[in-house]
Amino acid sequence: MEKRYYQPGIETMSVEDMKKLQSERFVKQVKHVYDNVPYYQKLMNDKGLTPDDINSIDDITKLPFLTKADLRDQYPYGLLATDLKNCVRIQSTSGTTGRRVVAFYTQEDIDIWEDCCARAIVAAGGTNEDVCHVCYGYGLFTGGPGLNGGSHKVGCLTLPMSSGNTERQIQFMMDLKSTILCCTPSYAAYIGETLREKGYKPEDNSLKAGIFGAEPWTEEMRQDIEKTLGIKAYDIYGLTETSGPGVAFECEEQSGMHINEDHFYAEIIDPETGEVLPEGEKGELVFTSLTKDAFPLIRYRTRDICVLSRKKCSCGRTLIKMSKPMGRSDDMLIIRGVNVFPSQIETVLLNMGYTPNYQIEVDRINNTDTLDINVELTPEEYENSKSSLEVHEKKLATAIKTMLGISPKVHLVAPKTIVRSEGKAVRVIDHRKLHD
Ligand code: ADP
Ligand code: ZN
Repeated sequence: MEKRYYQPGIETMSVEDMKKLQSERFVKQVKHVYDNVPYYQKLMNDKGLTPDDINSIDDITKLPFLTKADLRDQYPYGLLATDLKNCVRIQSTSGTTGRRVVAFYTQEDIDIWEDCCARAIVAAGGTNEDVCHVCYGYGLFTGGPGLNGGSHKVGCLTLPMSSGNTERQIQFMMDLKSTILCCTPSYAAYIGETLREKGYKPEDNSLKAGIFGAEPWTEEMRQDIEKTLGIKAYDIYGLTETSGPGVAFECEEQSGMHINEDHFYAEIIDPETGEVLPEGEKGELVFTSLTKDAFPLIRYRTRDICVLSRKKCSCGRTLIKMSKPMGRSDDMLIIRGVNVFPSQIETVLLNMGYTPNYQIEVDRINNTDTLDINVELTPEEYENSKSSLEVHEKKLATAIKTMLGISPKVHLVAPKTIVRSEGKAVRVIDHRKLHD
């Protein structure tokens, strides 16, 4: 197959040239924030640093980290690095883990962001012959606007559906022959389930690829979606703070996401000590923007846990890759002293043939943490196992115990009892937090 890139000069640039480019841009970016954001200037002054101390990307470790707390603290204008009159857009986080953060964009920032999304669409096989069906939310959430802009740049026929109204999504998808679907993986699974219920087979739709992100999803979930929709499912990663989706994207190798490192410099740190870890080690992902005008970020701690790799990729891209984040450090549950990521539970469920419709409930009763997992059955499974539910629950509980090291209580529940998500799925209800 002929290899296609959106910006080949960058996407296949030699590692040495990339480092040179990053260094040049980084030095400029630091000067930009020092000169224009009193908050950054103070952070640097406190460490006895001025832009003169920053001569290449290797000097990055001299600079302090920035956290979500800093962003919330400086809400709304504290980190703005240009006049408001130069800005043309505001977007905001989904507020999954607390007070929302707002990000600002100049027209040039938006152009770069859309280029990043366009790279992702081309990597998923997108061309100007595609019908790109975007059902990420539009509005303050970055998913819809980001992929919408990227789709325009590639020249796809763009369907700005936004999220929700699954019936209409399906009607348009069928009538207009959508070929690329962009949404959260949980919504893709829901669309797949609805299509199946309506009697459609995977080959009845015209979809060839999906670009799914904005929440953690497992390899098992990927296989499940690929099967029900009859597509190749690609991961895409980003966060509002760094612009939105498109910070990193998957290629046909589907083994991690290439980071657009000409715009975002990535580091992995030990979340406890802040020490930078060598390539290949698992830790917290930290991003530094290299080309931002309105809302630059220097060493921003994402709280997402993953691994970086420079292993050669068969797609020909030389951009460094990040593994699928297994969840944010704050998604990690500590149950009876054991660290648990919801994605570990998802892996077991899907491996045992269950649907990705599940919800995890954690509570503390008589000073002991409890872990309950509700797993929805399909109508056939429900019919067939009515008399043996308990046996299946025990089997599943044992498999999960093997994975996590602690015993859950599993409840197999009737079809359609777990609420479907149209955006980011709510996988965990932690009642302990509600008591606090
Ligand atoms: P919020 O922090 O309120 O959810 P965002 O909508 O900006 O706001 O979400 C960004 C976060 O979403 C990332 O930090 C990451 O935790 C998660 N995320 C985005 N894309 C992916 C992905 N492909 N895989 C796993 N997690 C992702
Ligand atoms: Zn690749």
